[in-house]
Amino acid sequence: MSTSKRSTVALITGGNRGLGKSMALHLAERGVGVVITYRGNAAEAADVVKEIEAKGGKAAALALDVANTRGFDAFVEAVKAELGGKLGRDRLDFLVNNAGIGAHASFAETTEEQFDALVNVHLKGTFFLTQKLLPLISDGGRILNISSGLARLTLPGYAAYAAMKGGVEVLTRYLAKELGPRKISVNVLAPGAIETDFGGGAVRDNAELNKMIAAQTALGRVGLPDDIGGAVAMLLSPESHWITGQRIEASGGQML
Ligand code: NAD
Repeated sequence: MSTSKRSTVALITGGNRGLGKSMALHLAERGVGVVITYRGNAAEAADVVKEIEAKGGKAAALALDVANTRGFDAFVEAVKAELGGKLGRDRLDFLVNNAGIGAHASFAETTEEQFDALVNVHLKGTFFLTQKLLPLISDGGRILNISSGLARLTLPGYAAYAAMKGGVEVLTRYLAKELGPRKISVNVLAPGAIETDFGGGAVRDNAELNKMIAAQTALGRVGLPDDIGGAVAMLLSPESHWITGQRIEASGGQML
């Protein structure tokens, strides 16, 4: 574990597995303390904390349902308690809005329930969780929202999901403008297709789909969680502080 002069802390929603877990490991590797959240799988989250602590890093895990705004006040108090405890910091330096769910349905067949679930997790959750956490984020801090290549690419079956991510991309620009006076930079990272449990693990487990995406990708394969964890650590590094209000795609050049 590298020793950093900065004593910084990141909050990553949905950090028990997939992209969020890789982000947590990459940031911890650079000496950043991490608070990860999990929705249901406390054991998975505890394993990530153990893995970071075993390498000399600082980490904590908290339960959070980003679709339940009524739980946000209690969550903010829990974050404060963790910061004042083993993280040893009174502010958050980085917030990564990563938690997300997928849904595959044509526009004609998308149900109101599917739409509501997506809007609550991706758009309403990101909007109001960030609002609630704002007083805890240090001046000069960073917010990184996670979008999707599908907000640029147009693939049948993702109208609702991609529309939410499009909303997150517009929100990012507004946050960058409104939080600029506090020197908080806000960007959005759009991963291409990555091998995780997302969407039932289809990109990882469906060999035909995996091959098809790889063939449409400039760098010749689908993405792996570390491709995104590394990109997030880079975007939250001190050297990138002047980048704000931007959409950065990490897709290996998918469907350019
Ligand atoms: P994943 O399914 O492996 O992990 C999703 C994470 O979000 C989990 O930790 C889960 O607990 C959490 N989560 C889901 N609903 C939640 C809720 N209501 N409250 C709190 N946490 C919740 O998927 P992933 O691939 O790691 O996806 C992470 C993010 O990346 C998502 O926002 C997703 O939309 C985005 N993304 C994924 C891909 C991909 O191909 N995997 C591509 C582009 C964008």
